[in-house]
Order: sequence, then C-alpha cells, then structure tokens
Amino acid sequence: MPLPVGHTLAAYAICEGNRDRLRFFDKPWQTLLFFAVLANLPDIDFLPGFLLGNPNRFHHGFVHSLGAAVAVGLFGALYFRRRHGRFWPYFGLIAATYYSHLILDFFNQDMRAPYGVMLFWPLDSTYYMSPVALFASVHKSSDSSTFFQSLFTMHNFWVALRELLLMGPLAAGTYFYNKWRRSRSPRKSVTLRLAKVKYLRQRAEGAPVYVEVSETRKKLKPKR
Ligand SMILES: [Zn+2]
Repeated sequence: MPLPVGHTLAAYAICEGNRDRLRFFDKPWQTLLFFAVLANLPDIDFLPGFLLGNPNRFHHGFVHSLGAAVAVGLFGALYFRRRHGRFWPYFGLIAATYYSHLILDFFNQDMRAPYGVMLFWPLDSTYYMSPVALFASVHKSSDSSTFFQSLFTMHNFWVALRELLLMGPLAAGTYFYNKWRRSRSPRKSVTLRLAKVKYLRQRAEGAPVYVEVSETRKKLKPKR
C-alpha cells in the first residue's frame, strides 16, 4: 500500500479537477475531506485484522476491488441524489475516487501475499500488480501491538517522501490549472454557478424548474 500521503494527494487532484462540475458539500474543506476519506477508505480492511491481532489478515481482500468501488459509489450517489437531485455523475466520481486507491496500490511494490490487488473482482478474482513499482513498500508489523510503532521508521519516511514527489506535481498541477482557467473567465463561471445553485434550490423545493439563461448569461428568469 502507498501511505495516506499518496492516496490523499490523488484525492486532492480528483476533487480539484471536478470542483466546478459537481457540488458535494457547502464548504470546500468538507468536500476535500470527503474525497480524502474516500481515497483512503479501502485501507479500512486493516481494522478487522487489527482487532484480531494481525492487521494484515484481511488486507487486500474484496474491500480492495471493483465491486467495493461500485458499492461505495452507489451508496454515495443515493445520498447525494437526495441532496442535489442527480445520481450518475455522483456515482461515477465517488466510485472513481475509491478506485483510484486500487490503481495506486497496483503500482506499489507489494512484498506480502496476496501480491497486488483484485482490480476486477467480482468479475475476475486475479490479483494484479504492476511489473514496474512506482511506490516503495511500506514496512509494517503483522502484530497489532506493534503495528503503529512499526510505521514510524526512517524507511517509511523515505517512502512517504517518494509519494509526495510523485503525486505532489499532479495535485499542484490541477490546482494551478484551475486557478489559471478561472482567471480567464471569472464572470462566466460565477454566473453559471449562480444559475446552478438556483436550479438546485428549485428542485429541492419541488417547484417546477424553468431556467432561462439570457444571451449574456447573466439573467435567470423562472417562469410559472
Ligand atoms: Zn490499500
């Protein structure tokens, strides 16, 4: 597994890249936190093993799979459909963010069986691992009593630094690209965002939705 450093930077890139496309929560930090949790969520499979004395016992099982990404995407999309009235865009993005974890794990140097991840389970239960490892293996104990201490080593520090160097440019790239894009057409993006908020509010209230966007894309005229 890459450490949370790599997964969280991937989450940031996905979140920033889709910031103007979909609205999740009211505050940007809440949305970012949601994406960070999603991208790290598959490693929750350490927990049952940890409680039984061996954190690695269930690691890289079905929780690291396509099926799990689809299931999480469905639950997430059902929640956001209630909030914002759309399903498939939320399903796609939530499932993709969860699945980003598996892709990073696929590029990880895995030193412990089962090697790799079940990228396509339940369609196919083969474990896949990239022949070229981008991320170095994390040293961790198989004993719950020494698990957390075992993570804080110099080796794992270099692993984290490598993840930062590999994923940092991607995260920074999406940030600066968005900043540049917004600086080119600030008025249009603000107007369209206002239109979207009004549209979503009308849908939430159950009112019939008629939105007219004028030629200059400045006016909104709800009809009755
Ligand atoms: Zn993982």
